[in-house]
Amino acid sequence: RDTQRLDKFLRQQLLLNQRDVQQLLARNLVEVDDVIAHDRAQRINHFSRIVVEGKILQANRPRYFMLNKPNGVVSATVDAQHPTVVDLLNTTDKSELHIAGRLDLHSTGLILLTNDSRWSEALAHPGNKVAKLYHVTLANPLDEAYIHAFAAGMHFPFEDIVTQPAKLEIVSTYQAKVWLKEGKYHQIKRMFGRFRNPVLSLHRVSIGEILLDPELAPGEARALTTEEIRSVN
Ligand code: URA
Repeated sequence: RDTQRLDKFLRQQLLLNQRDVQQLLARNLVEVDDVIAHDRAQRINHFSRIVVEGKILQANRPRYFMLNKPNGVVSATVDAQHPTVVDLLNTTDKSELHIAGRLDLHSTGLILLTNDSRWSEALAHPGNKVAKLYHVTLANPLDEAYIHAFAAGMHFPFEDIVTQPAKLEIVSTYQAKVWLKEGKYHQIKRMFGRFRNPVLSLHRVSIGEILLDPELAPGEARALTTEEIRSVN
């Protein structure tokens, strides 16, 4: 997945035919990750470092960021109306980044951005059951019935699905913590909607083992640590 043959890559990047590619390989002129390549069928990916005749043809670094999304910023890479989370990032080559798990316009908190699609796919994979923790403020008082309803799962007729068991903890009369292992469209708002209880604010504090850094003010971002990156597999 996400890999391709070395010869195909060289043909496309250098506009060569297969015979030219064979020649380059035969003459030891191609390096993949600092090793001379001989096998034209060798699989490479977006992050393989490719050097041909001493010139760098590809050198992409995997990059990972967390951002504290402010209210009113869109989880998208471009938007005509509102600023986007990518606009807030202060880094180069932003166009190659994508968002690993969106938040609604008025939701706040932890957003992850990366150029590593294998990593973000692992994060989103249902089998990995990565829990996301949200702090929710409601318009109306909470009670025990919510805990049971969230744990039991709710039927969403539009998609005809039943939500995965979700944990809800009552923090105070109007505040709850909710752990979700999936992310259906407006899921939390819709789940509280069953109780006709409007969500006043929704703040994501963690995704799996990655916690929103309390040092980050709304709109601020930082690179993930090696440990944070490795916590996803
Ligand atoms: N559930 C929602 O309704 N909105 C979000 O942004 C995230 C989860």
